[in-house]
Amino acid sequence: MKGSQLYEGKAKKVFATDDPELLIVSYKDDATAFNGLKRGTIEGKGAINNKMSNALMRLLEKKGVPTHFVKELNDRETLVKKVQIVPLEVIVRNISAGSFSKRYGVEEGIVFSAPTIEFSYKNDALGDPLINEYHALALNLATPEEIADIKKYTFQINDVLKQFWASCGVTLVDFKLEFGRLSSGEIVLADEISPDTCRLWDSETGKKLDKDRFRRDLGGVEDAYQEIMGRMEQQIGAAE
Ligand code: 5GP
Repeated sequence: MKGSQLYEGKAKKVFATDDPELLIVSYKDDATAFNGLKRGTIEGKGAINNKMSNALMRLLEKKGVPTHFVKELNDRETLVKKVQIVPLEVIVRNISAGSFSKRYGVEEGIVFSAPTIEFSYKNDALGDPLINEYHALALNLATPEEIADIKKYTFQINDVLKQFWASCGVTLVDFKLEFGRLSSGEIVLADEISPDTCRLWDSETGKKLDKDRFRRDLGGVEDAYQEIMGRMEQQIGAAE
C-alpha cells in the first residue's frame, strides 16, 4: 500500500510502503536541465521513463547486474527496494558529447576506442562537481570495495545497454548511473535509465532521441521520447 510521500525530486516522487525495505517511485512529466535553471514539461515522459527504465533494469538483472527494481505497479509507478543512494553520479562515455566536448574542446561524435568513466559528486548546491576516486574516499562517500563494485557493474551495464540499443538502431553515446546500498550493504543499480539520463542517437541519421532535444531547444521532444520508446518495445522481448 502506498504510504506518505518521503521525497520529491526534479523528475520523480518517492513514497513509503507498508514494508520498510520497499518504496514506490512515481515518475513525473516535469523536466529540468542545467541544475534546475531550465524547467518545462515533456508530455508522457513519466510513463515512458518508468516503462523504459523498468524494462532495461529487468534486462540487466538477467545479465547478472543487481538493481533496485521489484515490480511495475502502473504507468508511472514502480515498487523498488529501499536504498541509501551513494552520492556519486557515474558517467560512462562511448562517444564525445556534452560536458566532455566542452571541457576538452573537442567536437561531439568522436568514437572512443574504450569507454570512459567519471564521477560527479551528487550535490545540487555545488552543481554536481567532477570528483575523482581519491576525493570520494576522502569525503567518505563510498568505500574502496563499493567503488570497485560500482565500476565493475558500470562497465557490464555499458556492454549490455550498448548492444541492446544497437539492436534498436540506436547508438548509446553516454549515460549517467546512480547506485545505492541495500540494508544488507549490497550495492545495487538505482535511480533510472531513460532518455533523461542517456544520450541516444539514431545510428543512421545521428538524430538525437533524448533529453538534449529539451536542453538545447531542438524541438520534437515528445516525438523523440515516443520514438525511442517504440524502438525499445520492438526489441526488448528478443533481448530478454
Ligand atoms: P554531460 O556530463 O555530458 O552533461 O552528461 C553525460 C551524460 O550523463 C548524459 O547522457 C546526461 O544525460 C547524463 N547526466 C549527467 N548529469 C546528469 C544529471 O544531473 N541528470 C540527468 N538526468 N542526467 C545526467
